[in-house]
Amino acid sequence: MKDVRVRFAPSPTGALHIGGVRTALYNFLLARQQGGTMILRIEDTDQNRYVPGAEEYIMESLDWAGIKIDEGVREGGPYAPYRQSERKHLYQQHAQQLLSSGHAYYAFDTEQEIEALRERQKAAGSDQQQYSSVTRTVMRNSLTLSAEETKKLLDSGVNYVIRFKIPENETVVLNDLIRGEVSVNTTQLDDKVLMKSDGMPTYHLANVVDDYLMKISHVIRGEEWLPSAPLHVLLYKAFGWEKDMPRFAHLPLLLKPDGNGKLSKRDADRMGFPIFPLNWADPKTGEQSTGYKESGYLPEALINFLAFLGWNPGTEQEIFSMDELIRAFSIERIGKAGAKFDIQKAQWFNQQYLRTKTNQELAAFLLEQLKLENISCTQEKAEKICALMKERITFPQELWEHGKFFFRTPESFDESVVTKKWNDDAVKVITAYRDAVERLSAFDAGIAKETLEQVTASLQIGTGKILQALRVALSGLGGGPDLMMIMEIIGKDEVVSRLTFALKNLKQKVS
Ligand code: GLU
Repeated sequence: MKDVRVRFAPSPTGALHIGGVRTALYNFLLARQQGGTMILRIEDTDQNRYVPGAEEYIMESLDWAGIKIDEGVREGGPYAPYRQSERKHLYQQHAQQLLSSGHAYYAFDTEQEIEALRERQKAAGSDQQQYSSVTRTVMRNSLTLSAEETKKLLDSGVNYVIRFKIPENETVVLNDLIRGEVSVNTTQLDDKVLMKSDGMPTYHLANVVDDYLMKISHVIRGEEWLPSAPLHVLLYKAFGWEKDMPRFAHLPLLLKPDGNGKLSKRDADRMGFPIFPLNWADPKTGEQSTGYKESGYLPEALINFLAFLGWNPGTEQEIFSMDELIRAFSIERIGKAGAKFDIQKAQWFNQQYLRTKTNQELAAFLLEQLKLENISCTQEKAEKICALMKERITFPQELWEHGKFFFRTPESFDESVVTKKWNDDAVKVITAYRDAVERLSAFDAGIAKETLEQVTASLQIGTGKILQALRVALSGLGGGPDLMMIMEIIGKDEVVSRLTFALKNLKQKVS
């Protein structure tokens, strides 16, 4: 079998969409599994759509996601350069080859002439609004003009393009690894431009030439490219490269959460989830978008989530590390149907991965956040907090957001809890408890609990009845992690002072 060589071939026209990360991932998984090579090729031949910073953004995103590139712009490799704008001469050479073999021709039609063709076709009720095997015979090109006229025009420096001469009435058959046999008659295809008047190739020519020259074995890309695939097959044939043609695999679309149509940035914005892997500031519009990374998604969770958008292992297992994905992946198990983008599932994966982190790893997140807030905290305390909060968070920043009370005396108290639970009994217990704690010489979660039980027993009030009032007095909140551990972490003095503050400030409800 041919060496597995796959490529991710984005165009640097903006931030990398999350769907692009999935495409890169599937390519990477196949490459790693088969001991093959993963290539990053930058398809930047459309100068009008070029966006500065997009290329770096793509590379940073793949780095963050853990998708490693073997050959590419940064890495180099035996088929360099890997940026199409630096390979212009190769496309020119190959376009010449097609001209010589009669598979391509020069076309001199102006935009107005093309527009007039379109109008005529429309008026005649033709559904073929394109430059095709029929219409090419009435246009200004090297097929209708004499050799001298053509040469004269070329020499005169007028604008021209090079078009592919689609063979007449031929059935093109493509065996897609995901979609099975796809066949199209060439009457449905138009004579696509291969070289533009600016001397740059179109996507089709550059893509096919590079896949061939870079010895690509599998083209794994989004379904939106399926309509272009028959043209690509014809190009391989025209070049005489049929036996080296890569296998094609067109990935199912990513759908909106409700399954109605393709997922767009607009949908993601509206529903409040990221569409880009990293933060992105659009240099044209100035629009700022928050990335998955900055929203608190762990790369391994995002990868696991994306792997399941279109692929499944055929077992119940859901948590897969990158290495496990590499082992389990197969193109055969990618479905044809579009994959619904369920952000809740991504959050679930994030929770699962956060739980597998050690307290030490999580403490690093918390300490970083605390630094921004100018709050000092020992490693030991941070780890204790993380141990307590781990099961209760979806994103690492929630260690701080939901755990502020570990560091700051609450200034406000959950009203609904106060109304329901701050009654005479609560005040009685909490006052006595505060005094009892104050007298203690040692303090930890166990002692805090024991002391509370002694106080409630002597006042003959059930502990359960006042526990939430105690919680709201200490944290300001109605719920949270183990209260005795909270007391241990904030320490005896802070417990006493918070209870004193709450007793002074909370209005007692007459029960
Ligand atoms: N440059 C194309 C893109 O931006 C690549 C499509 C392909 O993989 O052939 O998606």
